[in-house]
Amino acid sequence: MRVTVLGSGTSHGVPMLDCVLNNYERCPHMVCLKARTDPRYRRMRASILVEVDGCSILVDTSQDFRQQMLAHSVRRIDAVIYTHGHADHIYGLADMRSYSSHQGEPIPIYGSVETLACIRGAFDYVFNPPALLGGGVPLVEAHVLDGPMVVAGALVTPVPVEHGPLNGCLGVRIGDTAYIPDVKRIPDASLGLLEGLDLLIINCLRLRSHATHLTLDESLRYVRELQPRRALLTHLSHDIDADVEGWLLPSGVAFARDGLVVECV
Ligand SMILES: [Zn+2]
Ligand SMILES: [Zn+2]
Ligand SMILES: [Zn+2]
Repeated sequence: MRVTVLGSGTSHGVPMLDCVLNNYERCPHMVCLKARTDPRYRRMRASILVEVDGCSILVDTSQDFRQQMLAHSVRRIDAVIYTHGHADHIYGLADMRSYSSHQGEPIPIYGSVETLACIRGAFDYVFNPPALLGGGVPLVEAHVLDGPMVVAGALVTPVPVEHGPLNGCLGVRIGDTAYIPDVKRIPDASLGLLEGLDLLIINCLRLRSHATHLTLDESLRYVRELQPRRALLTHLSHDIDADVEGWLLPSGVAFARDGLVVECV
């Protein structure tokens, strides 16, 4: 199984537009300025590609979906699993029309009842298509993910997590890899679903506290508790500069970066 980090940024992406408009006045390490000229500092919105037994499974379709598919020459999408209904995780769905058209059949999408309701609300034209189709509509087939399920040949376990007031937010476990891009708290019942991991990819927004995301300290606390063989921190804001904060990480833990490919068991 191979995991590709398509995007490692928080909802704003890096460079952050607010930061550019304010002449980088609130950019702690000038990551946004560096990102203008150095692609190593750029962070697209969070998503991963999981390739397993010849199938391609996406977790989330970010606002940067089109760029991510082009960057990695993704030829086919067998399924999409949605973690939650925030804009940075779902708005790439519009561009999936190229894949459903090319593949000639609807693409199965999976998420909690609440997430699928968000997607239906955001994409009325997809679920209630007009009689006369103009530019094409992505064809998708929605499935509720409410327990372990085989998705495109892989066993997928949803891991319910808390991400502020939003209901139905999930992490996803595929094999011994777990991906939790947006989370503030992992309930006790879900911690049991995350035992024996080879790779944990978990949210880390910044060092300062935040109402709906983990800070670096909080992320590392979960890494210590869950004891994965290795961990990546993702959904990073412009506050994090891997060159500066990297020394705070224990061995086996790293900041994710766009384009990182990890071979998993
Ligand atoms: Zn997000
Ligand atoms: Zn910035
Ligand atoms: Zn979110």
